[in-house]
Amino acid sequence: MTETSVERVNLLGLTLPKMEEFFLSIGEKKFRGAQLVKWIHQRGVTDFDQMTNLSKTLRERLKEIAEVRPPIVTFQGDSGDGTRKWLMEVDGGSKVEAVYIPEDDRGTLCVSSQVGCSLDCSFCSTGKQGFNKNLTAAEIIGQVFLAVKSFGLPVKDSQKRAVTNVVMMGMGEPLLNFEPVVDAMSLMLEDQAYCLSKRRVTLSTSGVVPHLNELAKVTDVALAVSLHAPTDALRDELVPINRKYPIAVLFDSIRNYLGCLSDKRSVTFEYTMLKGVNDSDDQARELSKLAKTIRCKINLIPFNPFPGTQYEVSSRNRIYSFQRILLNDGHVATVRKTRGDDIDAACGQLAGQVADKTKRSSRYIQMRDVTEPLAH
Ligand code: SAH
Ligand code: SF4
Repeated sequence: MTETSVERVNLLGLTLPKMEEFFLSIGEKKFRGAQLVKWIHQRGVTDFDQMTNLSKTLRERLKEIAEVRPPIVTFQGDSGDGTRKWLMEVDGGSKVEAVYIPEDDRGTLCVSSQVGCSLDCSFCSTGKQGFNKNLTAAEIIGQVFLAVKSFGLPVKDSQKRAVTNVVMMGMGEPLLNFEPVVDAMSLMLEDQAYCLSKRRVTLSTSGVVPHLNELAKVTDVALAVSLHAPTDALRDELVPINRKYPIAVLFDSIRNYLGCLSDKRSVTFEYTMLKGVNDSDDQARELSKLAKTIRCKINLIPFNPFPGTQYEVSSRNRIYSFQRILLNDGHVATVRKTRGDDIDAACGQLAGQVADKTKRSSRYIQMRDVTEPLAH
């Protein structure tokens, strides 16, 4: 990193109000904020000289005090099924991944919020790797910026745009990087930026209850919660933060979140299928009972193994039998498809890289879960 880049304000991560504040603070008019947000996020422009509705003097001034600096793409890979993956270098030299998954009616971008994670879920290799760094708002929205730019399609046109959905399901626990995540999501929803629907931006959390209660006060994006077990005894083992905020407390917090929304939406429970651990018919019945106490959908995720893990994925038949019990009880229950596995972009194959290896407990780190380091 050069000295000048440290001193300059990176405008990429500023929400509209923060951008307006920035312009007011340098003695400019507030409306410059919206102009800059549009140039950056809707037109993909990072060079102040190309921002033709700004005076030459203002452009020169901006060049001295500010910059628009996304992460550096060090790798881009396309899968036969249309999945696209980017490896991006962030400040400090660590790398994170973003993955784009096209489907018939949508294009979903999976975004990271931290390098590593401190929560140590037993089946997640990000957790095994430990915490390395919080991403800045610029580094989080930068993943969206670069993905959108790589498709070269209009942001505003809901018929043509490539990225229609964003899920905060990459590496890290988004609620433990609260303000940057909220700011980045605000740009995703912002009319002057990506103008995504609040139902199409999803935050996934393992259940950091106090922060979830705070989130309810500041945003209304879709919520996914990593449940993975129907009882506290098993969840304590798989998702250690459950020891602090057990299922009943977590459910109250989710109900509060849903109650704060202006429409009737449900939470999506993520449930990673681990062979012989959480996948029996009895556990499906327990989960079904629990799920009846809240407005929810259940997404069953086949476990993606990584080197050194003690877990195995449940068989296809086991997963379908588990799903059948939930469906028969009237729940909405889906099984997540594996996509992009030919470019290591499937859930469980997302790899980032940490620059400072002394902070790592293993050589592997990931977005959702890790297998192979990439840039070799
Ligand atoms: N920290 C947040 C978001 C990132 S993890 C959370 O835990 O919700 C995104 C999802 O991937 C979570 O549901 C997580 O439990 C799941 N996941 C983690 N490791 C996995 C693995 N090895 N195989 C399948 N899913 C995994
Ligand atoms: Fe962190 Fe989520 Fe992995 Fe748990 S599942 S260790 S919260 S990234």
